[in-house]
Amino acid sequence: MAVSTAYAENGASTRAPKTERRVVVAGAGIIGLATAWRLLRRGFDVTVLDAAPVSGATFAAAGMLAPVSEVVWDQPTLYPLMVESGRMYREFALAIEQEAGSGVGYIENSTFVCAGDSADRQTLGELVELQHAMGMSVERITASAARRAEPALGPGCVGAVDIPGDHQVNPRLLCDALLEILGERVVRVAAAEVLYDGAGVPGGQARATGLRATDGREFLADEVVIAAGVDSGDVSGLPKELNLPLRPVYGDVLRLRVPERLQPLVTRTIRGVVQGRPVYIVPRADGTVVLGATSREDDMAGVSAEGVHQLLRDAYRLVPGILECEIYEMTAKARPGSPDDVPMIGQVAPGLTVSTGYFRHGILLTAVGSKLTADSVCGTLADNDAGLVSAVDPWRFSEVNDPQRSTQPQPEEEKL
Ligand SMILES: Cc1cc2nc3c(=O)[nH]c(=O)nc-3n(C[C@H](O)[C@H](O)[C@H](O)COP(=O)(O)OP(=O)(O)OC[C@H]3O[C@@H](n4cnc5c(N)ncnc54)[C@H](O)[C@@H]3O)c2cc1C
Repeated sequence: MAVSTAYAENGASTRAPKTERRVVVAGAGIIGLATAWRLLRRGFDVTVLDAAPVSGATFAAAGMLAPVSEVVWDQPTLYPLMVESGRMYREFALAIEQEAGSGVGYIENSTFVCAGDSADRQTLGELVELQHAMGMSVERITASAARRAEPALGPGCVGAVDIPGDHQVNPRLLCDALLEILGERVVRVAAAEVLYDGAGVPGGQARATGLRATDGREFLADEVVIAAGVDSGDVSGLPKELNLPLRPVYGDVLRLRVPERLQPLVTRTIRGVVQGRPVYIVPRADGTVVLGATSREDDMAGVSAEGVHQLLRDAYRLVPGILECEIYEMTAKARPGSPDDVPMIGQVAPGLTVSTGYFRHGILLTAVGSKLTADSVCGTLADNDAGLVSAVDPWRFSEVNDPQRSTQPQPEEEKL
């Protein structure tokens, strides 16, 4: 085992050889942090590199845990992952809460999905049929029944669906708790390149031995994880045969304070479909609400004026009181989009695991995704449900569909 400058579990830097296995993770979004936490619990000496922890999609996310209301047509490999992760979430969130000694905002407060007009009501009705066919618990309710339960719903809500099993977590609190647990194991520098052993095994594959940071430091480890969200493919040295087709899908989201006289604005997550556009209002325990989110594939990384206009207009149709609230934050971030909305998790070279492409559902999928990633690092990924493992296969978009054929890291110039 190589000697490194990796950080000891008590946070002190050390050059002493270690007996435990070491892992270095690129990316301190929710996926990198939760994976690092799981590996720490499994006895690994963990280091996470990120120049700006929790500054990606995780920072923007509302934190809806919505395996049911996120069901859309033709995503058969995504549903089992969402359902499994939803099932795991309570235990996952509570374990982190307990270890960190701070709340993560996990609330089982259910969801209404409201229709903004009769065409939207029909769309929701068709989705309910699909959800029922999948054995999910959903119930169509009248607009007046919805208004009795949530008096802030206005006349613009013409029908609703009650989804008792869709909940929420506060991604920022969850990551604060993980950062607290991981402490100085999170190092504020970006990963530039995957390091490999000199010649590799004759006739076999080069093995990843760590990460070189952008400041030149080398973080040697037995296992390397790339969990850098939409930027994962920018870390040099991924196998040249590996195709990670990530694309940024921007989302604008607003955070608002609800005036005392309107508290609570809503008591559960209110999602809506307004003229075909999705909108949601997620109430937080502190009396604020999160209003989101647009979905843009343009090149505007900042907050879109049109996006803000659309969110306020559509939310106003369902919950008119939203316009009496105070906007205290507007954020736009890129979701790490994948072609089939399903993440890419698994080994791509000896000692090298990727975990990215969580797209619209990364907060929900963290419970199962971080477990699968930690299992990949430990070599036990195949012990999981075969359907889940093949759904997230990181090689499924590559012409070479066999990790054993990945022999060489990608030279820098070929990435361009
Ligand atoms: C507006 C919006 C709302 C959303 N709402 C929900 C929701 O309600 N429910 C849900 O389940 N999902 C939601 N999502 C999706 C979810 O946020 C993402 O799927 C999830 O956060 C992805 O997590 P990640 O850790 O993979 O990526 P990120 O959170 O993007 O983190 C990647 C990290 O990698 C770091 N990084 C980048 N390059 C490097 C490098 N070279 N070296 C080291 N670090 C690097 C970045 O600084 C960043 O901190 C939402 C997304 C958006 C944008």
